[in-house]
Amino acid sequence: MVNSKGSSLTIVGGTVLSGGGVLPDGVVVVRGGRISYVGPSLPKGESGESVIHAGGNYVGPGFIDLHVHGAVGAHFLDGGSESGRRISAAHSRYGTTALLATLSTAPRDMLLEGIACLRQLIEEGQSHNILGIHLEGPYINPAQRGVHPPQHVRMPDTKELLGLLDCAGGVLKLVTLAPELEGAIGVIQLLRARGIVVAAGHSNANARECEAAFDAGVSYVTHLFNAMSGMHHRTPGLAAAALADERISVELISDGVHIHPLMVKLALKAKGWERVVLVTDCIKALDFKGEDMQLGGRKISMRGGAPHLDDGMLCGSVLTMNRAVKNVREFTGASIAETIRLATINPARILGIEGRKGSIDVGKDADLVIFDDEMDVKATIIGGEVVYNTL
Ligand SMILES: [Zn+2]
Repeated sequence: MVNSKGSSLTIVGGTVLSGGGVLPDGVVVVRGGRISYVGPSLPKGESGESVIHAGGNYVGPGFIDLHVHGAVGAHFLDGGSESGRRISAAHSRYGTTALLATLSTAPRDMLLEGIACLRQLIEEGQSHNILGIHLEGPYINPAQRGVHPPQHVRMPDTKELLGLLDCAGGVLKLVTLAPELEGAIGVIQLLRARGIVVAAGHSNANARECEAAFDAGVSYVTHLFNAMSGMHHRTPGLAAAALADERISVELISDGVHIHPLMVKLALKAKGWERVVLVTDCIKALDFKGEDMQLGGRKISMRGGAPHLDDGMLCGSVLTMNRAVKNVREFTGASIAETIRLATINPARILGIEGRKGSIDVGKDADLVIFDDEMDVKATIIGGEVVYNTL
C-alpha cells in the first residue's frame, strides 16, 4: 500500500507511544505528510480514507540513526546514488525513518564525490530518509583510527574543509574529529559557526584537551568507549570526560559486541536517559547476499554477530536500530516507551530538529514505525508515505 504525501492516512488498533504518553488502542491521523491528530479515538468527521490496522502492535516515532555507513553490500561513501537509495531503503525496513549518511576517512576527491552525490539525492528528495551527512574523519588520531585507512588519515586542514563545506551546501550536519590534533580547535570553531554539530571520536585526548574541545563547541562523542582514550583513574581520557561533563551527549553501539552491557548501563547512569543516543555504525555487511565481502581490499568475515577483518579487528556492525533498542531494553530492563527516546527524540535534539521529528505529536513529520513486543518492525512510514508494510 502506498500513500501519497497529499492524502490522509489513519492508523488504528495499536499502542501509540506518543510524546504525551502511552495510548493503548490509540489513533494517529496523518495529513499532508504530518501528524494531524493523536488521541484515544477517531475524531469526528475523519473518514479514514486510507487506514492501517496496527494489529495490537506498538506505533512509535521512527528511528533516527546518526551514524550509518551502509547495507546490502554498499557504502554511502563510494556507492553512488543507486546504492544510496538501496541502503536507505534497507534501513527503513528496520524502522529508520531518518539517517545521516556517514562517510569515513578517504582521499579528498573521494569525499568530494561522495558528498556531491548525497547532496543531489537529498536535494532532489530521491531518498526519503537521508537527512544529511556525517563526516567521520579524516581528521582523526592515527593511534585510534580503527579500520579507517591509515594512508588517508590526516591533520585538520581548514582549507580542505572549506572545500568540503562548499561542496556540501548545507547537507553536512555532523563531523567527528580528534580534538587533540594540531589545528583541531580552529576547525571546531569553523564548523560551529556554520551550525554543524562537532563530535569527538577516534581520539586519544587527555582531560585537558577534552575540556578545551568542549569549550570550543564539541557537544557529542562518537561511539563512546570505542576507539578513544578511556577511563583510567589517574589519566582519564575522552570516555571519562564525556561521562563527567553535562554539556556532552554520547552515542553507543549497543550490539552487545562493541561494548559490554554493563558499560551501556554505566553510560545511562552517568549521562541520564536524555543524553544517550543509539546508533548502528552499520556497514555494508547488513543483508549482504553475496559470497565474498571486502573492506579496503581486505576480507570481512562475520564472527559473534559482528563483522571483523582478517586481523581480528572489529569493522563497524550489522546492527539495526530496532535491534539496538531491543538490546538496551534487555540490558537495562527499561520499558519500550523509555528506551525508544534513545533512538528518536534524543538524536533529533542533537541535530536541533526536535521541533519536527523524534516524537508522535501534532504538527510533526509523520515518521512512524509499527513494531511488535520483540521490536520486529511491521511497517515504516516516512513523511506520511508507507515505505514498508507487512501488516
Ligand atoms: Zn563509523
